[in-house]
Amino acid sequence: MTYSALSHLECSRTGARYDADVVQGVSPAGVPLLARYDLERAARTLTRESLAGRPATLWRYHEVLPVRDPAFVTTLGEGMTPLLPLPRYGARIGLPGLLMKDEGLIPTASFKARGAAVGVSRAAELGVTGVAMPTNGNAGAAWATYAARAGMRCLIAMPVDAPAITRTECVATGAELYLVDGLIGDAGKLVNAAVRERTGYQEVSTLKEPYRLEGKKTMGYELAEQLGWRVPDVILYPTGGGVGIIGIYKALREMQELGWIGERLPRLVAVQAQGCAPIVEAFHQGAEVSVPFPDAHTVAFGITVPKALGDFLVLDAVRQTGGTAIAVSDEDLLAAQSVLARDEGTFICPEGAACLVAAAQLRESGFLGAAETVVVLNTGAGLKYPETIGVDVPTLPVSGAIPSL
Ligand SMILES: *Cc1c(COP(=O)(O)O)cnc(C)c1O
Repeated sequence: MTYSALSHLECSRTGARYDADVVQGVSPAGVPLLARYDLERAARTLTRESLAGRPATLWRYHEVLPVRDPAFVTTLGEGMTPLLPLPRYGARIGLPGLLMKDEGLIPTASFKARGAAVGVSRAAELGVTGVAMPTNGNAGAAWATYAARAGMRCLIAMPVDAPAITRTECVATGAELYLVDGLIGDAGKLVNAAVRERTGYQEVSTLKEPYRLEGKKTMGYELAEQLGWRVPDVILYPTGGGVGIIGIYKALREMQELGWIGERLPRLVAVQAQGCAPIVEAFHQGAEVSVPFPDAHTVAFGITVPKALGDFLVLDAVRQTGGTAIAVSDEDLLAAQSVLARDEGTFICPEGAACLVAAAQLRESGFLGAAETVVVLNTGAGLKYPETIGVDVPTLPVSGAIPSL
């Protein structure tokens, strides 16, 4: 039986083939490598029916994941997050069919766990003994956590402004952590120099190794499975490095090849913050790549990526599916975060809240129809960003009384 039908790696620009069974970074063209599978072979055991009996983790799709030997699977139970209806918020913005896939309910409370689980597992299988990366916080926390689970070393550098809880997660799980007085790109340079001097370490920055993307693509498989193998009309995704949206698009194409879904694909929407919107600018200018966004700044820290290595892949996914790209303000996304928590009882991250603002704006502009099935990705839990909600409540003396209603 085939656990993984991984066949080779492919340059995302030239299509050239590379060996998938040695440690690889980017292609010689300097762009991401994409994992390719023998889907005919995968389909012998991976069927929509067979999935029903498998465990509720992302490893249920193991034939289209890169780990060959199940002994290397490093798991904390990640995947199969809930797809929640948002009836009150949906009614508020004129989208009664609004759904949210809630990635806050996953180990480390951000969807970075998916990429880390698959990336760490495959790295371990290929003999890597240490992983190293710059991060805006959540990715570092997730890779540190899964590296600990795999018994692997982990080197992380993050901006001093990154969410404080992610530092705690790195320290708790025994990572070697450095704070950098700068942005993620500055942290990246330091990590890159360090890795060159260490043996056994691999640099696992966003899209600089091929397998994080494979973990994140499972969101696409899950969405189709959770909707009974129909695809939604639109998917809104908070886009930083773009791994999630590139991954969802990759999953959709693979499912088409498997014959699981039809010709029609959901329109993919890249959502960014106005304070860091390189992809949105490139999309509206008709450009194939983005230019570095100056003075990038937003409370949605996970999407503060001024120049993404995979920008051309994000733009391609958006254009091929008839989607769009939109930027929202911090003020609006913070307001949406509060409104959603009160309307629906879900305390989501600012990045996810950006997608809810985008949904409202795209409904108003007519891009979204009232009868459409629209899915927003909430990429993390609000619990990781406690400072985004102001708490102004009275403190009572012990002899005091709670005001009557
Ligand atoms: C990293 C991150 C994103 C952006 O993810 P990409 O796949 O790199 O675009 C969105 N939301 C949160 C909470 C994140 O941590």
